[in-house]
Amino acid sequence: MKILLNKDDLNEALYNVKNLGFVPTMGSLHDGHISLIKKSLKKCSKTIVSIFVNPKQFNNKNDYKRYPRNTDLDLHKLKSLKVNFVYLPDKKEIYSQKTKFKFKLAKKDKILCAKFRKGHFEGVIEVMDRLTKIINPKKIYMGEKDFQQLYLVKNFIENKYKIKIISCKTIRNQNNLALSSRNMHLKKAELNKAEKISQNLIHFKKKELKKGNIKKQILLKKKELKRLYKISIDYLELRNKLNLKISNKLENSKLFFAYYLNDVRLIDNF
Ligand code: AMP
Repeated sequence: MKILLNKDDLNEALYNVKNLGFVPTMGSLHDGHISLIKKSLKKCSKTIVSIFVNPKQFNNKNDYKRYPRNTDLDLHKLKSLKVNFVYLPDKKEIYSQKTKFKFKLAKKDKILCAKFRKGHFEGVIEVMDRLTKIINPKKIYMGEKDFQQLYLVKNFIENKYKIKIISCKTIRNQNNLALSSRNMHLKKAELNKAEKISQNLIHFKKKELKKGNIKKQILLKKKELKRLYKISIDYLELRNKLNLKISNKLENSKLFFAYYLNDVRLIDNF
């Protein structure tokens, strides 16, 4: 496994690599990341994983500072998976080159996390654009756990480059909580609560949410979750999974959820 710290080393290492799969991450790797990496290893001749905690996508400085970082353990995991390349850039490496390009979200896309985390997706798209230019892969593997991110990045990258974004299913723990690096911030009791909340919403989507007044059922569910678990909810919305428009039918729709458990913000979709 080659560890690449700068563009020169990266260009040299990737020279002549044809079918390159790329898995962008912010590190603190868990089985969700690993599933993306395994998919790339299976489908592509070589795989590169990047670990970069991107400051531009954090709308809160403190959140950036306390984002979990575990590079040594990550490298150990990547090595045992037999990943070919790891790109470990620093901020200067990614952002020293000035560009005139500034991504703007369309008004219709200022929904869900874009509404609650101002500047977040602009930061995500900028880093994905920069990483894509540097790495120039054939395929990029991304998780449905961050569905809106996947949707926006796919639209942007596939329009601009001849690269395919491959979406990968959400990996959950044995109690149905979606794996996330942010789960490390949860204390035992909070983790327990987060698991119960996931189970509650999986059941709600599968068994309770019925044709009829979907809007009202969701409103009642929000009230119930707040009362039962003392959480603060950014959104709970049913949206069409192809265009992310608000939906009032179950077909082709997903339930999108973002909430705070004390000061930890968690997102999921069901
Ligand atoms: P992050 O390190 O959080 O930026 O995530 C890197 C990639 O891993 C993104 O494409 C995420 O959507 C994906 N990912 C994160 N958690 C999961 C999960 N539980 N299941 C599948 N993919 C995930």
